[in-house]
Amino acid sequence: MAGGDRKRTVGVIGAGMVGVTAANFLLRRGHDVTLVDPGNPGEGTSFGNAGCFNGSSVVPMSMPGTIRNVPGWLTDPMGPLVVRWSYLPALAPWLVRFIRAGTKEKVQQQARALRTLLDQGIETLAPLVRDAGAQDLVQRLGHLFVYRSLASWEKESPAWRLRRDNGIAWDEFSEDELRQLDPNLSREYTKGVLVRENGHTTNPHRLIERLVQVFQRDGGRIERRRAIGFEIADDRLTAIRCEDGALPVDAAVVAAGIWSKPLAAELGDRIPLETERGYHIMIRNPEVVPRIPTADADGKFVATPMELGLRLAGTVELAGLDAPPDWGRARILLSHARRMFPALRDDYPHERITMWMGHRPSVPDSLPVIGASRRTRDVLYAFGHGHIGMACAAKTGKTVAELISGEQPGIDPAPFSPQRFS
Ligand SMILES: Cc1cc2nc3c(=O)[nH]c(=O)nc-3n(C[C@H](O)[C@H](O)[C@H](O)COP(=O)(O)OP(=O)(O)OC[C@H]3O[C@@H](n4cnc5c(N)ncnc54)[C@H](O)[C@@H]3O)c2cc1C
Repeated sequence: MAGGDRKRTVGVIGAGMVGVTAANFLLRRGHDVTLVDPGNPGEGTSFGNAGCFNGSSVVPMSMPGTIRNVPGWLTDPMGPLVVRWSYLPALAPWLVRFIRAGTKEKVQQQARALRTLLDQGIETLAPLVRDAGAQDLVQRLGHLFVYRSLASWEKESPAWRLRRDNGIAWDEFSEDELRQLDPNLSREYTKGVLVRENGHTTNPHRLIERLVQVFQRDGGRIERRRAIGFEIADDRLTAIRCEDGALPVDAAVVAAGIWSKPLAAELGDRIPLETERGYHIMIRNPEVVPRIPTADADGKFVATPMELGLRLAGTVELAGLDAPPDWGRARILLSHARRMFPALRDDYPHERITMWMGHRPSVPDSLPVIGASRRTRDVLYAFGHGHIGMACAAKTGKTVAELISGEQPGIDPAPFSPQRFS
C-alpha cells in the first residue's frame, strides 16, 4: 500500500467528475472502493458544463468590485446574473458571506489556494485519461477570452493581475490578430487573450463514463443507492447509511456536489453551500464552431467546441434547488452567441438544439470543501467546487485519496478546511 497505511474499504458518495476521479485515485492506491449514486454516473452538474480545464480559473467569484456590478446585471434581462426574488430571504445569509469574502486580502489568499488545485490539473488527470483510453476526449488548445472594448478589458485588470501573480501566462491579441486567430468571430471584439495552459473536454459526460468503465474494469464497484447518513461507533465510521440499508465501509468521501450539504450536516458540519444554477444550449451541426473554447468577458458565457456540436454555457441564476428551470436563460445564451459568431442562426429547429440546467455547488469564498468531517476523520469531504469542478477534480480526487491512504498530500489542504465556516 502507498503511504504504508492499511487497505481500506471506501465508499465514494456521488459519481460526478469529482467522485469518479477520487474513486479512481483510491483504487490505484489499492483500496476496496464502491461508488454510490442513485443516478447514472456523470448525469449531475458534471454533465452539461462548458468542459473547460482551466488552470487559470483562480479568480474568485466575489471580487472587491463585484458588488458594484450586481445592480446593473440584475436589471439587465440579458445579463449574466438573475435572482428569483422569492428566494432572496433564504439566500441572504449566503450572500452576506459572499460579499464579505470579496476583500482584497481574502481574494489574494483564495486565488493562491485555488492555484494549488488548478495548476497541473490536466497532467494530474492524464494517467486516468490514458488508462481509460479517453485521450480523444481531452484537448489542450488553450482558452480564448474576448472583449468588446478596451474599457471592459481594463475593468477586468484586477482579475488578470491575480492570474499573473499566480504564475499564469497569456498572449494578447489586437483586433486584427483576433480576426486571424478566428475569422468567424464578430468584428465587435477588439481584444483577445489566449491562455495556452488551459484545455477542455469535448464531452464531459462521455469522459466520466470512460473513467467509470476503467474503474469497474480494475475492480471498483458501483451501486445505485442514495446515501442518507453514516453509522459511527467510537468515532470510527462503520457504514454509509443508504435509503435501502447500510453499506459497510471504514472510510467515505462525500462528493455529491450540491447534494452534499445534508450529508455534511448529519456529521455536524454546517456548510454554506448554495446552488448557482447555470444553463447550456447545444447546437448540432452549427454553421460555425470556434477551434478552442472562447469566453465572452461581458456576457460571461463560454462557447466550447464539442463532439456533439457547439455548446454555449454560462449565466448564474440564484433560485435554489427546487425551482423549475427558466429556459429563457438558455435561449439568452443563443442570442449572445450570435453576437459572438454572426454566422449562427437566430433560431434553430427543435431537433438541432438541446437545453440543460445544472447546479454549481458554490461556497461564498469560492474555495471547495476538502477535508475530514468534524464528527469522524474517516469521512472526507470533496465538494463545493462551484464554477471549476471539472478543472479541480483531478487534484481534489488525488488529495482525498492521499489523505485516506495516510500519505502526505501533494497540496496544502488547510485553506479548504470544512471547519473554516465555524
Ligand atoms: C453552466 C455550467 C458551466 C460550467 N462550466 C465549467 C467548466 O467549464 N469548467 C469547470 O471546471 N467547471 C464548470 N462548471 C462547474 C462544474 O460542472 C461543477 O463544479 C462540477 O461538475 C461538480 O462536480 P461534482 O462531481 O462535485 O458534482 P456532480 O457532477 O453534481 O455530481 C454529484 C453526484 O452526486 C450524486 N448524488 C446526489 N445525492 C446523492 C446521495 N444522497 N447519495 C449518493 N449520490 C448522490 C448525483 O446523482 C450526482 O451524480 C460549470 C457548471 C455549470 C452549471
